[in-house]
Amino acid sequence: FDQREGFIWMNGKLLPWKDAHLHVLSHGLHYGSSVFEGERAYGGKIFKSLEHTERFHRSAELLDFKIPYSVDEIEAAKQLVVDKNGMDSCYVRPVAWRGSEMMAVAAQNATIHVAIAVWDWPSMFDVNEKMRGIRLDIAEYRRPDPKTAPCNSKAAGLYMICTISKHAAERKGYADAMMLDWQGRVAECTGANIFFTKDGAIHTPTADCFLDGITRRTVIDLAQRRGIGVHERRITPDELSGFNECFLTGTGAEVTPVSEVGPYRFTPGNISRTLMEDYTAEVNKH
Ligand code: PMP
Repeated sequence: FDQREGFIWMNGKLLPWKDAHLHVLSHGLHYGSSVFEGERAYGGKIFKSLEHTERFHRSAELLDFKIPYSVDEIEAAKQLVVDKNGMDSCYVRPVAWRGSEMMAVAAQNATIHVAIAVWDWPSMFDVNEKMRGIRLDIAEYRRPDPKTAPCNSKAAGLYMICTISKHAAERKGYADAMMLDWQGRVAECTGANIFFTKDGAIHTPTADCFLDGITRRTVIDLAQRRGIGVHERRITPDELSGFNECFLTGTGAEVTPVSEVGPYRFTPGNISRTLMEDYTAEVNKH
């Protein structure tokens, strides 16, 4: 991934992709003091760019550091990287981390570094292909208690259990894993939020210990505009047998129907299809 052509914005400068290095003694690498964003540009414009930049700043503050570029500067830098790489539709990855001036748990005086890269990430399937649904395992690891981690931060460290869970699921032939929360209730997937349907309404876990995704909020809004009822509530795993449809939402996943979660079966249907189509229309509306 590091030997591509193109440009990466790093600490205020556009660098050739291959030259965007950091030192091996970076605090972010050793102690997980790193936050990032995941965004998509459609037709050259980043969807909900400002919301992502604001979340990027908040994520850093929750890890007790401040991104040394204003929201406006990050906004301009992201658009510059999209444009300079000649991208029309792509994935956008801002990342910020503590640097290498201090190598101990405390690192108040380490420089904060920021980089922004973009790359191709086409939507995986066409609508009909997606309507077959993906298969999910149920992860062994749970989302941590909000008292044990800054769960509203898109912090690199919080992805450790996601990677382990996703690998375990893929080893068993699943596409991803649904994670429970620290109390054993349904939470989310390793990089996307989860929704269910019943009696024409949507049910989704309350985002009280995991990322309240920007796509999640967008899809809730799209559903409400369609007059579809939305229930954000606590959902136990044994309730899954009573739902008809299941789908995931996320910048990467967009709206992705699910056909299986562990022993439970779902049939992607009208609500998934409608929201998939409405989401596509929404992201391309500019
Ligand atoms: N949960 C996790 C763990 C994620 O990584 C993501 C993707 N950022 C989401 C939920 C969905 O967030 P968003 O819709 O803002 O991309």
